[in-house]
Amino acid sequence: MAKPLPVDHSLTSFWRSEPHSLDNFRSSETLPETSDIIIIGAGYAGASTAYHCLDHSPASEKPSIVILEARQACSGATGRNGGHLKPDVYNRIGNLAAEYGLEAAAEVAAFEMEHVSAVEAFVEKEKIDCDLEVNRVCEVQYDKSQLAKVKAGYDFLIAKGVETTRDVEFTPPESAEAVSGVKGALACFSQRTGRLWPYKFVMHLLEQVLSAGVNLQTNTPVTKVSEAPDTDGRWTVTTDRGSIRAKWVVFSTNAYTSALVPEYKHSIIPVRGFCSRIVVPNPPPSPLERSYTLRFNGWDYDYLIPRPDGSIIVGGGKSTYYQQDRDSWYNNTDDSRMVEGARRYFDNYMQRHFHGWENTGAYTDRVWSGIMGYSTDSLPHVGHVPRKPGQLIVAGFSGHGMPQIFLSARGIAKLIMEGASYEETGLPRLFKTTEDRLQSRRNNILQTYVQSSGAESKL
Ligand SMILES: Cc1cc2nc3c(=O)[nH]c(=O)nc-3n(C[C@H](O)[C@H](O)[C@H](O)COP(=O)(O)OP(=O)(O)OC[C@H]3O[C@@H](n4cnc5c(N)ncnc54)[C@H](O)[C@@H]3O)c2cc1C
Repeated sequence: MAKPLPVDHSLTSFWRSEPHSLDNFRSSETLPETSDIIIIGAGYAGASTAYHCLDHSPASEKPSIVILEARQACSGATGRNGGHLKPDVYNRIGNLAAEYGLEAAAEVAAFEMEHVSAVEAFVEKEKIDCDLEVNRVCEVQYDKSQLAKVKAGYDFLIAKGVETTRDVEFTPPESAEAVSGVKGALACFSQRTGRLWPYKFVMHLLEQVLSAGVNLQTNTPVTKVSEAPDTDGRWTVTTDRGSIRAKWVVFSTNAYTSALVPEYKHSIIPVRGFCSRIVVPNPPPSPLERSYTLRFNGWDYDYLIPRPDGSIIVGGGKSTYYQQDRDSWYNNTDDSRMVEGARRYFDNYMQRHFHGWENTGAYTDRVWSGIMGYSTDSLPHVGHVPRKPGQLIVAGFSGHGMPQIFLSARGIAKLIMEGASYEETGLPRLFKTTEDRLQSRRNNILQTYVQSSGAESKL
């Protein structure tokens, strides 16, 4: 595939149906010649990095920062996701514990859970109008062998006293359907979680950093970053509107990272996903209060968040395209197109899955696609790009960035503004980007795909 760059004419998500005044904003007509920091990508990671860099510098020494964005502000995955701020505290964490040890896994779980409180506190402090609600999520399991695997991991974490896992409540098969309200539920787990309007959250961050002097340049794709710094230690970042030289370059380019940093070609892969909004004309007697994950098996799951306006955001629909057509999702950056199966998948969704929703007339209002940056070892890449002093990365969030990005960006700010070592930043050790990870040719994405369908011949 050619270099993964954002495409034109992306489908419009519900979140972006009323664009913010900064959507196509440029702080200046021309690009500045130099800047202390260049942040590439104006999504959740880029906006959070700018915010934390300013927050971690004294008032008298604010760094100059330019944010370069290929399309509109927050038009990537963040502007088109499910809005589910759901920390993983027992599912993937069980796998991490088995592979990397309990301490490292527990660190990730605590870091993700910290996001709920950190985002909640920030939204409250800044009075951000982004429909944030902190509640619980009900994760429904349908598949026996998947349940056995997840439950074993959960039991292990509980037995070892992992603090964040203690919040999780398990409901066994006898009462799962009644407790969850979901038809055919085999068992369910419930835990603290958040939901929000991600575009509004990020646009507020951008508004705030711009008022503190940050220069935002939308519709300005970066085409190249120099291979080596110049004699004053600055990197040259090239766009078709000119070049900027900077001491620090931060790649918050998620799915598109390898177009600029080819070292990540085997480590971060663009993966296309789908999301929808369902409108409910005749709400049922008990509308959803919690958010949901419906986990059908080891590779297929949907996620739902109820919204204050009574509509429901539902993401997923993998069963309609995943095994049938690998090219429709793997290494695919085209968020301008729909997959026909995914478009139809969300029709009658609530009626199919939830008791008491049969006569609600719930219908699909909109379906859109978005591009995630899947990391081949399932862990984000955060920190200094190996062998390129001054270049940093905060990317590869594998469809799970909401509970990982805000504080990862704080870690990046500590590395830049305080000269902290990675170990001093509070970032999970497993998120550190390293030469070993870049050299590895493991690919969890394709491994899961192969396991799902016995599709070796298609690899
Ligand atoms: C359909 C869908 C549903 C999802 N649902 C959830 C969910 O419910 N919960 C959850 O936790 N996560 C979810 N995710 C994942 C989540 O959205 C991401 O992890 C998160 O938004 C990543 O943020 P980011 O800033 O790293 O990337 P992005 O938001 O993609 O931002 C990267 C930005 O970089 C820009 N860029 C890239 N290359 C260049 C270049 N060369 N020059 C200039 N700019 C460039 C892009 O245009 C883009 O704006 C979902 C993702 C999708 C697609």
